[in-house]
Amino acid sequence: MTEEKKRGITVKKTENFSEWFTQICSEQGAQLVDIRYGIQGFIVHRPWAMKVLNRIYTLLEQAVEADGHEPHLFPTVILEDNLTKEAEHAGFIPDVFWVTQAGEHTLEKKWALRPTGETQIYPMYSLWIRSYNDLPYKGYQSRHTTFRHEMTTRPFLRGREFMFFETHDVFATHKEALTQIKVDMQIMDEVIRDKLKVPFIFFRRPQWDKFKGADDTYASDSLLPDGRRLQISSTHDLGHNFAEAFNITFHNKDGKEEFGWQTCFGPGIWRIMACLIGIHGDDTGLILPFDLGPQQIVIIPILKGNDTDEEVKTYCEDLKTALKQYRVIIDDSDNSPGYKYNHWEMKGVPLRIEIGSREAAQGTITLARRLGEKKTTVKQEDLNNAIITLANELDTDIGRRAEAYFKDRIKHAQTKEELIHVIKNHRGFVTVPFCTTNNEGAVCAEHIKADTGGADVCGVPLAHAQEPKKDDVCVQCGKKATVIVYCAKSV
Ligand SMILES: [Zn+2]
Repeated sequence: MTEEKKRGITVKKTENFSEWFTQICSEQGAQLVDIRYGIQGFIVHRPWAMKVLNRIYTLLEQAVEADGHEPHLFPTVILEDNLTKEAEHAGFIPDVFWVTQAGEHTLEKKWALRPTGETQIYPMYSLWIRSYNDLPYKGYQSRHTTFRHEMTTRPFLRGREFMFFETHDVFATHKEALTQIKVDMQIMDEVIRDKLKVPFIFFRRPQWDKFKGADDTYASDSLLPDGRRLQISSTHDLGHNFAEAFNITFHNKDGKEEFGWQTCFGPGIWRIMACLIGIHGDDTGLILPFDLGPQQIVIIPILKGNDTDEEVKTYCEDLKTALKQYRVIIDDSDNSPGYKYNHWEMKGVPLRIEIGSREAAQGTITLARRLGEKKTTVKQEDLNNAIITLANELDTDIGRRAEAYFKDRIKHAQTKEELIHVIKNHRGFVTVPFCTTNNEGAVCAEHIKADTGGADVCGVPLAHAQEPKKDDVCVQCGKKATVIVYCAKSV
């Protein structure tokens, strides 16, 4: 059992979240990634992480396909001319990796490793979209990676190569584009909030914090346990900006040529994973909703080293067969039951079945769930109902914990002094009266950032936005407040 001593998280999540996160991702934790690949910001995803990530991808793919999107896959490289065609979007240039050499040839025109999909996808859209009959055009790209030259990197939070998912839509009218933005938000609610139990707030970003090339950016922010906000999705109202740059036009019913109205939606796969790990996990390991478990149930045979062992093993095999609608694994390794419990708790397996000679002789099953102390013993005929009940209880508990944690991290400040004080002592969002989220507010936001040690103005929430009171003034400039904005330090 020497191996037993090496595994496990040695810090408390509440005391040192950063180190806890590093450990849970690593070999001593849930074995999610390996950062020893040798190039900073490029990491290896291990099987347990891949299975969870694949499940997130599948849920999102199903949701966008149900909304009429069709899959496509574009190459990894983009022509420089295309990358810089939309003037604001060219702001990505400092973050781009370039291919300049192919074998012994120096490329005449260098290629960018895609930092995001717009400038690779839209030149093709301009070839495919001809008439109003082609609209709406809804495409998505999934299970690919994208590249940005980040200076600081952390697994699932910031990488030089990271997992991507993106929809790119073209509509005949702006109204339809705005409706799509609402649908994208519903998809985030259905998949990320309801199924993954990750809480977040939707914001309309201030004008100075929009995506490069967008007219408006709508984004969802979650909060890591250290109180830093993490943007986990964004949908951009691209207006006509890219359509004009890439000549995406269609003939309307009157035969006249018009530019298409575009939106794009990007749930951040990595960052959603970071929330799943960071928000739900505890000092024992990962905690996963039942549907997300790479293995949903682990069966642990308790062997005595006597002649009842064979009976126990056969009983476990029969159970696995009976539970084939779930992802089930039997841990028949030589490790001790205690080691096995710790191992699978670290991995966040939602349910555990323990089978000893008594269960095998009596035809019963003992069940335990992650995030719950008590064990339940049921008869075989009651097993399916017991699994459904325990899985539901687990999911409800995970959701309730996450929502309570999130709610607890929103506070209000009425003055700049209060804001500085609260940001210093409180981890999370702080709401404040503010002059404007139009471009004129950028200066106030800069001052706030400097004076609070890094808090950003995240924007105004789309649901339950508070109205400023009659006498409310901007915490920075003292002008009449027109909005109540959320501020938080960011990852
Ligand atoms: Zn102001």
